[in-house]
Amino acid sequence: MLDFSLSREQLDLRQRARQFSMDVVLPAAWHYDEKDQLPLWVLKKADEAGIMNSDIPTEYGGMGYGLVEGAIVTEEIAAACPGLATSIFDNSLGFEPIVISDNDALKKKYLPEIAKNFKRICFATSEPMMGSDVSGIQCRAKEDGDHYILNGTKYWITNSLVADYMTIFATVDPEKKHDGICAFIVEKDWEGVRVGRHIPKLGQRTSNTSGISLKNVRVPKENMLAPPGKGFVLAMKTFSRTRPIIGAFAVGAARSAMEYALDYAKKRKTFGTRINSYQAIQFKLAEMYQRVETSRLLVLKGAWEADKGMDPTISASIAKLYASENATKVLNDALQIFGGYGYTRMFPIEKLLRDTRLFTIYEGTTEIQKMIIAGHLLAAYEPVLPPIDEVPVLIGEDELFDSDGNPTGGPAWRCPLCGYVHYGDEHPEECPYCFVKGEGFKKVWPKGE
Ligand SMILES: Cc1cc2nc3c(=O)[nH]c(=O)nc-3n(C[C@H](O)[C@H](O)[C@H](O)COP(=O)(O)OP(=O)(O)OC[C@H]3O[C@@H](n4cnc5c(N)ncnc54)[C@H](O)[C@@H]3O)c2cc1C
Repeated sequence: MLDFSLSREQLDLRQRARQFSMDVVLPAAWHYDEKDQLPLWVLKKADEAGIMNSDIPTEYGGMGYGLVEGAIVTEEIAAACPGLATSIFDNSLGFEPIVISDNDALKKKYLPEIAKNFKRICFATSEPMMGSDVSGIQCRAKEDGDHYILNGTKYWITNSLVADYMTIFATVDPEKKHDGICAFIVEKDWEGVRVGRHIPKLGQRTSNTSGISLKNVRVPKENMLAPPGKGFVLAMKTFSRTRPIIGAFAVGAARSAMEYALDYAKKRKTFGTRINSYQAIQFKLAEMYQRVETSRLLVLKGAWEADKGMDPTISASIAKLYASENATKVLNDALQIFGGYGYTRMFPIEKLLRDTRLFTIYEGTTEIQKMIIAGHLLAAYEPVLPPIDEVPVLIGEDELFDSDGNPTGGPAWRCPLCGYVHYGDEHPEECPYCFVKGEGFKKVWPKGE
């Protein structure tokens, strides 16, 4: 059964997130953007309001929501400030590998702390020399008795300055590529862990992004989340659950841009006329709305597949790719509608555009999503149609069916090279167009004969 409606509980949750977003996030957004600072108090309030860590299972003290609920909440927060949405949601990115791992001891140790005691956890695959190619991780993990020793640098790590715990992906041997990747839970106050300065960015300045230095960090073996060879898959499985949420960020930001532009277009006059009366402006607004709506559908589909226990990888990539690219287009059009005012810092579009630009980069760039989708198409997609050289393109004969649709002519044989269709009981000796030998012709009609 297909059903596009939200449940009463989901509607209530959306209302709660919306209220929080308007009351707490929106007034903080520009102030902290200008300061280039993450206001930790907003995360604390989000935690208290029950809109952070939404998908920690109830048995570990969490709320046990699914990704659909995560997407609903995230859209609302991102509508006010994508940077703060990133920081609030980053905890879910950080603990998701624990939730989907089969390490029960680590679940019991860390998830209740995160759910109940406002502990923050960041997620680190990226490094200064590597982002897209996760199999190229250089951070080393060396076995040493009942410990692993970590050495290396992680870069671009959201919330690392304010994190208590870190999900660190490393390798036992960079030469082994995918087969060497493993993952650990590291605590920030362990010896050898240092976090770098907050990296100044174009947008999402209300979220913290920093590097992490790991120097001879001794990690007990019980903190190994994925053994060598299993870490890469764990990272990919995590992304396939978090990418729909990045799509939800994009939907929220695009929705706000559309609303701001709609409001402005109703008020602004040029040539003595309100600009919303021009079809050029109306078409922009219509396309914005269409992009927001279609993006949300894809986001919810990816999240729904994950909640149903299906493999959401392809839907997640499509949702992330489509929503992030379309949000960028919506923001660009919105700025155009605002004219010169849109380009100033006194109007909301400028920041929203800077914030939105990141969506096509983190958690796998647009190009990486296309590689994933193309890989699926080429290797696993099951087409409905027959192969081209078996398609009955029945041209070149006057009558082939009687008035009831029964075949009267044929059979039809198709040239495998140029597509010429020959009618007769046998294939021709050769193709009269491209001279290919007749044995290569395929009987394409009537079916089953
Ligand atoms: C603000 C911010 C926050 C972030 N937060 C985190 C975080 O919390 N944790 C974390 O681990 N990482 C984080 N990242 C890192 C982010 O995931 C990477 O920046 C991203 O994966 C791209 O990697 P890169 O920057 O190294 O680009 P590269 O991998 O060097 O790619 C450069 C360009 O080449 C393209 N490209 C690469 N390979 C191919 C290919 N095979 N075919 C075609 N094109 C290709 C890319 O699409 C891109 O356009 C964050 C980044 C930013 C900017």
